[in-house]
Amino acid sequence: MAAEVGKKYVIIGNGIAGTTCAQMLRKNDVSCSIWLITNEPHPLYNRVSLPRYLQGLLPEQKVFIRNLEWHEQQNIRLLTETLVTSVDTEGRVVHLDHGGPLPYDALLVATGGWANKLDVPGVAGTQHIYNFVTLDDTREIIARALESKEAVTSGGSFIAYEMTEGLNVRGVHVTWLMRGPYWLRSILDAEGGQLVDNIATRHGVTIVHGDQIDHVVADSGVPKTVVGATGKEYPAEVIGVGLGLTLNHGFLASTPIERQTGIMANEYLETNVPGVFTAGDVAEFYDPMIGRHTVMGTWDNALAHGRIVAINMAGGHEPYVDVATYTSPLFDTNIAVMGIAESNNPELETFMKMAPGDKGNTDYRKYFFKENRLVGSVFIGSPKGRKKLVELIRDGGNYPTQAEREALFDVR
Ligand SMILES: Cc1cc2nc3c(=O)[nH]c(=O)nc-3n(C[C@H](O)[C@H](O)[C@H](O)COP(=O)(O)OP(=O)(O)OC[C@H]3O[C@@H](n4cnc5c(N)ncnc54)[C@H](O)[C@@H]3O)c2cc1C
Repeated sequence: MAAEVGKKYVIIGNGIAGTTCAQMLRKNDVSCSIWLITNEPHPLYNRVSLPRYLQGLLPEQKVFIRNLEWHEQQNIRLLTETLVTSVDTEGRVVHLDHGGPLPYDALLVATGGWANKLDVPGVAGTQHIYNFVTLDDTREIIARALESKEAVTSGGSFIAYEMTEGLNVRGVHVTWLMRGPYWLRSILDAEGGQLVDNIATRHGVTIVHGDQIDHVVADSGVPKTVVGATGKEYPAEVIGVGLGLTLNHGFLASTPIERQTGIMANEYLETNVPGVFTAGDVAEFYDPMIGRHTVMGTWDNALAHGRIVAINMAGGHEPYVDVATYTSPLFDTNIAVMGIAESNNPELETFMKMAPGDKGNTDYRKYFFKENRLVGSVFIGSPKGRKKLVELIRDGGNYPTQAEREALFDVR
């Protein structure tokens, strides 16, 4: 490695936000020192590819985006299996669970979130209960899926859906428990939820609404059944839970860095503490597009944050202004969420339309308006017109009449 004489950067978290930032810092400054720290054992891999790896559609090596050699070539010091335990913002030092401490001139916290665990009777000492966030989670789910016939998944989120589909494609019969009346309750409505149920049911998934895991019955540490809050029993050799994420900023508790759901930041991704920045899923940043702070859990957002924050850590002053987008396959169709798509937000008006789409699927499109301005949308079915719609959201045009709102359905 070349000698380091310049500015000292420390980046906590080697996901897409942290690794992109490291790459950009190096691109713009050959003499700085860059430490990239992760508690995971791997260099950057693509979390968005994990569902396809789970389904057996992608070999594991294709999930990786970077290898160790790349970090050496870039002169980026990657510390794997290393947990940051605390930060001293006065002394500008990062403390690790082993080795260190590491001094910094500028610090990036890009630590994402860890999955909430299932915490009900019968879980302690029982194997084969999985979250689905990391590559290692995925390896374990695949290994168990190969020896299982019956699974229970639980949750109303994207992750619960991805696990359900992955296990189903692996030939495991899945009973999917959802406490609420439909999937993605904060975005969809009853019609959209029914559509998603129909897609999954058509592929052999058994969906149960209004139930959740009350306890797990196991034999010698191997799950046998899940008992729901309704008292119903469901066979389960493997259990997958999507109970949301807790964003990783607890290790900042002794610092003055402002935290709420995420780490608070302005549109430049600077925290309230000089020299400390945040990016990706863990950032609760000011979004000028919507005029308030927000957290986003999307790959594109984390990547774009990584680029912008590198500029600002090096002394630049560039705001992050973009429309959030999230796209995901849904069995043989797709879902795309753009901008602010919040069904429970009383400040927003909505317009929804469904029509027959390609290959026997239905096209569902819902639009969200704030004071007549188009601010978000969700598509199930054909993704055609998605990019154009993102432009329309970015343009912030007004759609005061029903006819103007209906015409958006034909944007392709
Ligand atoms: C299964 C799955 C499917 C997804 N599908 C999609 C999709 O289709 N489209 C989409 O847009 N998004 C999708 N996402 C979300 C997307 O992957 C995330 O938004 C993105 O990866 C966030 O990147 P990040 O760099 O902010 O954080 P992360 O990728 O979470 O990286 C943070 C890293 O920091 C580490 N870390 C945390 N605390 C510490 C600490 N104290 N010390 C050291 N290391 C620490 C974490 O372990 C982790 O390795 C999916 C996510 C999952 C899990």
